[in-house]
Amino acid sequence: MMNMFRRQNPPTLRRQAPAAQRPEVQLKSPREIQIMREAGRIVARVHAALREAIRPGVSTLDLDQLAVETMSKYNATSCFLGYRGFPANICTSINEELVHGIPKKDRILKAGDIISIDVGVRYRGFIGDSAWTYAVGEITPEALELMRVTEQSLYDGIAQAQVGKRVVDISRAVQRTVEAHKMHVVREYTGHGVGRQMHEAPQVLNYESQDPDGQTILRPGLVVAIEPMVQLGTWQTRTLRDKWTVISKDHSLTAHFEHTVAITNNGPEILTLP
Ligand code: MG
Ligand code: MG
Repeated sequence: MMNMFRRQNPPTLRRQAPAAQRPEVQLKSPREIQIMREAGRIVARVHAALREAIRPGVSTLDLDQLAVETMSKYNATSCFLGYRGFPANICTSINEELVHGIPKKDRILKAGDIISIDVGVRYRGFIGDSAWTYAVGEITPEALELMRVTEQSLYDGIAQAQVGKRVVDISRAVQRTVEAHKMHVVREYTGHGVGRQMHEAPQVLNYESQDPDGQTILRPGLVVAIEPMVQLGTWQTRTLRDKWTVISKDHSLTAHFEHTVAITNNGPEILTLP
């Protein structure tokens, strides 16, 4: 998830706590990163299973079931279920739905949809977190371009995840790619540090700002979830009456791509790669 949570809730908050109260960045040891690598691999396996299953006629609850079965096969559990009361194992968000969509029996995929699926697992006390937007059958060129640009912005952000750079270098790279294509990067939800908790310091915004977390220097052992959320018509969002599903304010199409990435002396290591 929940990537990003609403930014007024730590660690994805909009208003910053005073520096002294801000949570500290938790660097991970090589042993801890090894566990996170395994957690990340499980997340990738869940996505691989979902990718195979996505087709017209499948319900989002079917996908939720498949996800949790795959997690349990590898001794992992969903870290979304019950998180602030979230009622499902994964988030499934279709078309104008950006994030935090709730899987449902009567929500059936149809050709031309795009579905963003966010998967987070807990494995041996550590979290892996990755989201991907998938096409259902044949989609419009516009939807395809949105997916392509959002994925590209993720990789452009990851390329900046180098020792000695700052979090804002990641943010800036994501924003540049998105805006070069006249698309809009969401402000209200963000990436984050990740480890024993799903949301740790620092916040990783998808746009350049004066956010003090942006000044965090990237050091070996820092693990972050980088997760551009992109919309075709506006950066603004609103939340539906189910209190979870976030949509684009203008109902334009949205996409969401996320990887969990460790900063290492050998460059960024994507822990959630297949
Ligand atoms: Mg996520
Ligand atoms: Mg996340």
